[in-house]
Amino acid sequence: MINIARPLIGQEEKDAVLKVMDSGMIACGQTVSYFEKEFAKRMGVKNGIATTSGTTALEVSLHAMGIGFGDKVITTAYSFIASTNSILYVGATPVFVDIDVRTFNISIDGIRMALQEHPDAKALLVVHLFGQACDMNKIMELAKEFNVKVIEDCAQAHDAEWDGRKVGSFGDVAAYSFYPTKNMTTGEGGMVLTNNEEIAENARLLINHGMKIRYQHEKIGYNYRMTNIAAAIGLEQLKKLDNFNEGRRKNAEYYNNNLINPLIDIPFVSNNAKHVYHQYTIKIKKEKRDALIKLLEDNQIGYGVFYPFSIPEQPAYAGMGFKTEWETTDVVKKQVISIPVLPSLMEEEIRTIVAVLNDLE
Ligand SMILES: *Cc1c(COP(=O)(O)O)cnc(C)c1O
Repeated sequence: MINIARPLIGQEEKDAVLKVMDSGMIACGQTVSYFEKEFAKRMGVKNGIATTSGTTALEVSLHAMGIGFGDKVITTAYSFIASTNSILYVGATPVFVDIDVRTFNISIDGIRMALQEHPDAKALLVVHLFGQACDMNKIMELAKEFNVKVIEDCAQAHDAEWDGRKVGSFGDVAAYSFYPTKNMTTGEGGMVLTNNEEIAENARLLINHGMKIRYQHEKIGYNYRMTNIAAAIGLEQLKKLDNFNEGRRKNAEYYNNNLINPLIDIPFVSNNAKHVYHQYTIKIKKEKRDALIKLLEDNQIGYGVFYPFSIPEQPAYAGMGFKTEWETTDVVKKQVISIPVLPSLMEEEIRTIVAVLNDLE
């Protein structure tokens, strides 16, 4: 079986975890602080606040910016559901926007229309989907013009770039995930990054029950603290992030050069984007996706359909009155399939995958 995802845990991570175990300080402590500093520095952002997951990082980001009950947040109709759930957790209302047919990221024209239609919108939550940055120059211009805050969901885009600048450093705040399938992992874990001191301070309080002075609680917060065990893994993974992403990019390039089946569209990469291929997502034409899935299964090749549904049409959101028909998302969701691109893929494995894909007819 060739897996679609597989965390790469080496001796370094194991040793680091044992060291934390032996220290007796296994919950949130200095290892977490160190990981926050190292990760923020690496992404070119001033403050890092580690959390229990990407989902809680998103929720805390919104909460720390003061987004709350009844506030409108413009976001993409096509992502993992956590992007939108975080908006709902803080009592805000998502306003969905369709995607760009080439990049699968939120449509820039769609954002402009939504901002015109909802002049009271407070924020824009964008997702750098599959490892490719959104057009952050245009997004920040629109945010300025319409005076809205920007949250970047970087859960799939560690170290991705737009115009030579790292994602997560453009908006007011950014959220990362370290789930095992992501470009780097801590088991479960997340991080809030921000250059804004007030947001950083709020986020810092929120993840720890609003506590500044011992047992004096300034806000109704949460326990979203990362553990030293997770942070120890993260610190080792961060050192390997360059290698991991280079491996993904190399595999993607191999696919780009060798997939020659006219039924398959390889990923479009914008000239300004450094794609880190959280997923290598192709489009299958002529309703042949089911046929390809069968072929992949017969050949023991892992795959994923990210995502078979738009967010607003999820059963969990039934009855909430969201628009559920989308010109682009509804086409794309039936065409996409992601194939293994993980850095540990063997040359033989990737050749097998290419041969199977080129055989689809
Ligand atoms: C994985 C993911 C999240 C949530 O991260 P978790 O760590 O799983 O909570 C949020 N947004 C996107 C786009 C993701 O891919």
